[in-house]
Parts: sequence; structure tokens; C-alpha cells
Amino acid sequence: MAKESFDFVSANSKYVFNTYGRAPIMLVEGKGVRVKDSEGHEYLDFIGGLAACPLGHAHPVLVEAICEQAKKLIHVSNIFHIQPQIELARLLTGNSFADKAFFCNSGAEANEGAIKLTRKFFNDRGENDKYHIITMENSFHGRTLATLAATGQTKYRNGFEPHMPGFSHVPFGDYIALEDAFTENTAAVMIEPIQGEGGVRIPASDYLPKVRKLCDDKGSLLIFDEVQTGMGRTGRLFAYENFGVEPDIMTLAKGLAGGVPIGALLATDRVADAFKPGNHASTFGGNPLASAAGVAVLSEILSKGFLDRVCIMGGYLRSRLQDVAAEHKIIREVRGMGLIQAIDLNMPCADIVTVMRESGVLVNCTADTALRFLPPLIVSGPDIDEMITILEAVLTKVTV
Ligand SMILES: *Cc1c(COP(=O)(O)O)cnc(C)c1O
Repeated sequence: MAKESFDFVSANSKYVFNTYGRAPIMLVEGKGVRVKDSEGHEYLDFIGGLAACPLGHAHPVLVEAICEQAKKLIHVSNIFHIQPQIELARLLTGNSFADKAFFCNSGAEANEGAIKLTRKFFNDRGENDKYHIITMENSFHGRTLATLAATGQTKYRNGFEPHMPGFSHVPFGDYIALEDAFTENTAAVMIEPIQGEGGVRIPASDYLPKVRKLCDDKGSLLIFDEVQTGMGRTGRLFAYENFGVEPDIMTLAKGLAGGVPIGALLATDRVADAFKPGNHASTFGGNPLASAAGVAVLSEILSKGFLDRVCIMGGYLRSRLQDVAAEHKIIREVRGMGLIQAIDLNMPCADIVTVMRESGVLVNCTADTALRFLPPLIVSGPDIDEMITILEAVLTKVTV
């Protein structure tokens, strides 16, 4: 067994594009918050498929929904009506600001849809010069050409010039800078309510309400990219609920179908109506299999007590991380909300990720110094305790 896994891991760079800095292990099975690699080592999973596994691994409700749907119908295309897609749209709109949903296959694709919808919305009104979208420095919106242009981090954009026009970036959380950046071309502000890849950054409580008001005053749209923060991650179904503001457009992906690829674009009728038949489409988007998975995940997250438990576990994780921070000077800050948390270190965290993995815990490093925790939302107190014990040992080892 050990030999076979070695072969796969080393064969990767020969057969697969070398686009990822992969850890030198291959995960082959999982249950709950635990995963196993091909050599039989077990890990506590605090990456959770990069926030794409809210129900953890092999959750019986999700597995059953996928198997039952696969036996009936996996794919038909959007030439036909798709019952699970309609059910998922009804659940999403019934529990958010939105009136309608469009389904695609990833976060980047959902954001592409949001950008296209914004342009079409103003185009329909004869305001053709209202196409510009202001996004945030340090943001992450995806890897397609338009979403790269939207992404406010040069490390992702360099080498892919010319960048698609129509975007500018201002510092996240800086209201005055945003106000100054508005022009008569500004069609929308696109923003993550909490920056995820940017290092888990939470804005001051009055920032997003002020951004909402500014957009209203200027006749521009507000787009929330909740690809990472949606689906219960913050303890509310959507992160915007924590800030008392609603967007005109919202994008979702990661956790939406528990790891089955899916993306969604949500909007109010006023905005969604700009897309007429033929304006936007996806072959796979919202297919029966992915939608059935989405319905199962969303139903579970909406079940009684689920989100309350996320709040409790998020608060517990945060307080345990704060305890660790009090003992370890290398931690500059603990940041997060619900079950998206990070400790910001005064050094790069890549080595700590490696030692954590070798000690049986999967975490990842974002924005160089932020050790990020995105456990499945079903994580328990004892799971958190176990992770914290290992984290303390690793920090002690690494810093002496
Ligand atoms: C991950 C992420 C994306 C991109 O999603 P993909 O499915 O990788 O295309 C976009 N926005 C945010 C906020 C994300 O975290």
C-alpha cells in the first residue's frame, strides 16, 4: 500500500499541471472531521476542503441524497426543468434577500455571472458607461480573466496582462477611499463581507452599512462575494446577516453542495430580470446531482439548532485560540467569526502547516502569515481541544 501511494504522489508532477503547491500526501477517505491518507495516517481536518465541506466527510444525509439522485438522473442540461434545481433555488431565496438564483459550477463562475449581470443591468437602462466595478485590495474573487481583474492581489494577476478593463481596487475597510473612488462610471461595489483568502479580515461593524448607503445614494449595485463566508460558516446562513445589510447580488459556491462542484448567483428580481433567455447559461449549472446535494446540505444547515451550534463552536474555537495567543508571542492577532478563524503570526506560517500536518492536523496558511481554520461546521468541542493541544505543542517546538 505504502509503495502504491508513493507512486501516485510522485506521478502527479509528471501527469498533472503543476499549478498547486500540494502537500506530499494523498487523502483517500474520511468520516466527519477526520480524513485518512493512503498510508493509513489519520488527520483532523481543519481545512474542510477549503470551506467546501460544511457537513464534513461522508455525512449520511449528503451521501444518501447523492446516491439516490445518481440512481435517478445525474444530468440533463438546462434545456429542461430540473426539480432539485428549483428546490434549491426556492430554499436559497426563501432564506435570503434574493428573489432568484442562477446556478453554475464554481465561485469564479458565479462572480463572472455577477459581473455580466451588473453590466447588463445598466446596459438595459441605456447607461452604457456605467460598467466599472470597485473591488477591494487583498480580495479574492477567482482565477478567470474577469475575476482576476476583480481580485485585488497582484501576486495572482501578474503574468496575465493585459487585465480586463473595468475594475479598480481600494483598501478594504476604508470608507473614505471607497467614496473617493466612485465616478459616474461606477456600476457596482464587489466585496467579500469577510475577506477569506486575504487573511480572514473582518470590517468594522459600521463599514458595510455605510457601503450599502453609498451604493444607494450613487445608484450603484452592491455585490457580496460569499463564496467562502456563506452557507453557515459565520454562524448565520450568510455573513451579511451579521452586519445588518443586504446586497443586490450575492455569489455562493464552496460549501453550497458539500463538496460537489456548484456555484450560485443570487439577486433581487429588479436586478435578475436583466438576464433574459439566452443572455447567460451553463451546461452543467444546477444539474440534478449537484442540486440534490445542495438541497441536502442546505436542509441540514437550516435544521433546528445547527447554526446555533456553529455559533457556539465558533466562539469556543476563538476562545481557545485566544488562550494560545496569550501564551505564544509569535501570534499577533486572532481574527474571525464563527467557524472561519485565523491566527496571524509574526512570521510566515508555511512551516507550521507542515509540522501540524505531520502531527495529525490539517490547517492552511493564507496571506503568508495567517494560519486559517475552516473546519467542517459539525466540528465538536473535543475535536477543537485535540487540535489546540497539537497546535500548542507545534508552536512551542517551532519557536524554540
Ligand atoms: C474560493 C473563492 C472564490 C473562487 O472560487 P472557485 O470555486 O475556486 O472558482 C471566489 N471568491 C471567494 C471569496 C473565494 O473564497
